[in-house]
Amino acid sequence: MSKDCLFCRIAKGEIPADIVMENDNAVAFRDINPRAPTHILVIPRKHVDSFEHAADSIDLGALMLTAAEVARREGLVDAGYRVVINTGTHGGQTVDHLHLHVLGGRQMTWPPG
Ligand code: AMP
Ligand code: ZN
Repeated sequence: MSKDCLFCRIAKGEIPADIVMENDNAVAFRDINPRAPTHILVIPRKHVDSFEHAADSIDLGALMLTAAEVARREGLVDAGYRVVINTGTHGGQTVDHLHLHVLGGRQMTWPPG
């Protein structure tokens, strides 16, 4: 837990967020700058800098299952959706607390920009 980390502070309730789901491992909330009609971030409660630093396969699996549950709850399954983990500079990571983007509600393009 990092006291200055934005997403740790959201997980602790110190900074407001539009939370859509919480469990023992993870918190899911709406992205403040949505890139799709549905854009939700899923983060571990425990601070992890990035995907590269995720060392616990059980924690990582729980995070991914939470993302899948969020997609179901948001009604994204029939049309499909995308889960993204930006990692490091070339990956476009801007917040250094591991997060999964769940994006849906429009046709995604490939390859990503
Ligand atoms: P990334 O660029 O993959 O590191 O994603 C970070 C995401 O966090 C971006 O999509 C931002 O819009 C989002 N973001 C930054 N600050 C907040 C916040 N306070 N509440 C919700 N989303 C945020
Ligand atoms: Zn953190």
